[in-house]
Amino acid sequence: MRLILLGAPGAGKGTVAKMLTKIDGSVQISTGDILRAAVKEGTELGKKAEAYMTAGDLVPDELIMDIMGERLLQDDCKPGFLLDGFPRTIPQAEALKALLEKLGIELDFAVNLNVPREEILRRLTTRRTCVDCGAIYNVISMPPKVEGKCDKCGGDVVQRDDETEEAISKRLDVYNEKTAPLANFYKEEGLLLDIDATSSDDVVKAIQEKLAG
Ligand code: AMP
Repeated sequence: MRLILLGAPGAGKGTVAKMLTKIDGSVQISTGDILRAAVKEGTELGKKAEAYMTAGDLVPDELIMDIMGERLLQDDCKPGFLLDGFPRTIPQAEALKALLEKLGIELDFAVNLNVPREEILRRLTTRRTCVDCGAIYNVISMPPKVEGKCDKCGGDVVQRDDETEEAISKRLDVYNEKTAPLANFYKEEGLLLDIDATSSDDVVKAIQEKLAG
């Protein structure tokens, strides 16, 4: 499957993407994960992106398109891909459209995960992430077995720098201003699938039904 996952931070894009990869081997591509790895490794990309990310701002479109232009050419994308956190602006969506046209690739659809703002805030303030493998936990509903340590790889499980209350509030404002208009963009493309995403299981079921036609 070839999907775009749209939705506010904390809407469950990463969780849904991980569940979908297990169904048919499509690869999850998270620009947030790619950027966090670059920051951790101290690469040129990481140095350019870090300040934007910590402030809860978007990284410039050119940097993101450089990353995705290369990433989508890799062999593991051939069976399918789940774009998690990309595109996030109209210029990114337009550049992606041009890129896919050039590559002769068609999207199945763009899934818009809708979650009420109070639920988003609750999820983000209680979310914890493994610094090594990116696994996601929740201090209330899904804590790691050993506090602060990842069940999967043993890495440190921490609160992300951009999940302070101030950065979260900024990220939600940026989402409303720059990313929410993408739902309309994909509606006009005839690709939008709007879903109530309070439960990730229901989202996966709805996507499977839609793909089955
Ligand atoms: P995420 O893990 O998807 O919430 O992304 C974390 C941060 O990485 C965002 O707040 C942005 O600073 C940056 N980022 C991730 N994806 C993009 C993108 N497509 N465009 C611009 N910035 C991005």
